[in-house]
Amino acid sequence: MTRRYVTPGSTIGVLGGGQLGRMFAMAARRLGYRVHTLAPEHDTPTGQIADVEVVASYDDVGRVREFARAVEVVTFEFENVPAAAAAAAAEVAAVRPNGRALEVAQHRIREKRFLTSHGLPVAPYAEVRTLSDLEQAVRAIGRPSVLKTAALGYDGKGQVSIRQETDPVAAWDTLGRTEAVLETFVDLDREISVIGARGVDGATSFFEPFENVHRQHILDVTTCPAEVPAHVAADAIEITRTVLEGLDYVGILCIEFFVARDGRLLVNELAPRPHNSGHLTFDACRTSQFEQQVRAICGFPLGATDLLQPAAMVNLLGDLWQNGEPKWAAALSMPDVKLHLYGKASARPGRKMGHLTVLAPTREQARERALKARALL
Ligand code: AMP
Repeated sequence: MTRRYVTPGSTIGVLGGGQLGRMFAMAARRLGYRVHTLAPEHDTPTGQIADVEVVASYDDVGRVREFARAVEVVTFEFENVPAAAAAAAAEVAAVRPNGRALEVAQHRIREKRFLTSHGLPVAPYAEVRTLSDLEQAVRAIGRPSVLKTAALGYDGKGQVSIRQETDPVAAWDTLGRTEAVLETFVDLDREISVIGARGVDGATSFFEPFENVHRQHILDVTTCPAEVPAHVAADAIEITRTVLEGLDYVGILCIEFFVARDGRLLVNELAPRPHNSGHLTFDACRTSQFEQQVRAICGFPLGATDLLQPAAMVNLLGDLWQNGEPKWAAALSMPDVKLHLYGKASARPGRKMGHLTVLAPTREQARERALKARALL
């Protein structure tokens, strides 16, 4: 099993092959670690940076165990790894965050039960497993509301709005009549997220809240600091601390929040890994969320999270490639723009291909310049 410190020079295993793993691997490499990654595809964004890329299904418990045996500590960049795979890895290596955190975060019903049992605020919801549950849920929660699959949902996938005119049964059919939750549609003032870390020794550290704007359910723009009253930011951080402690968590956790127009702060969902809204920490914070993940899972003290300057991040989706290669030189002619690309070969619409970050004296200026740079692409 693992020593208390996973010392630089040893190997970290990452389950998942996307851009989160890629940026994690960059941070880990900078600290002198070796990185192995396991994902079902070849030449993944993470695999391009890692020392070793294992191509295997997450369901192949034997391969996952073998993968874990070759590393000191296993972490995730993708939370929908089957519980059996996480358990197999835990037989032979430290798994951080633990399987319980994964189990809670990958299932909306377990997640909401966990949150409410800790006294944390979520939008009113009802569990749906049968047609009669659905009828009861619509009566109890009302409309407008959102029906979301309990498992395997992200970026708005696996959700459907229930408006006045919607037939709830037809809506549930579009989700394959699978286990779901019906949730009140929240009248949003804005959305924020908090990224926190907890170390092996139980120490915690938080980035100040990020403010997130989504387009078609996919994160579009993040700015920091978020434009929320100080007590809202403090509450969001305290909620994140409660979750980290309640899950005996080690690593980076992101909580997405709704700030309702009536001022309520509600937890939307948990991500047991680095998060898209924290990408700007790479350029804008003293310690990035990726370095913080390395420090936390390797048993080292956590780094300072202060924001060096207000910042904005805009996502670059595959849609930008519609008319050929984006005009990189045009955006980079703004010398303060930092370009991050994830090494993905095919640019499908909606696919996250990269992002731009800009630091500026105010968040408004940062956002404006980031949007301007993207428009030049
Ligand atoms: P999710 O996949 O649950 O994070 O949802 C993606 C996005 O859909 C959120 O970030 C919100 O912009 C929107 N959304 C999801 N659920 C609700 C809700 N109950 N009320 C209002 N907006 C929602």
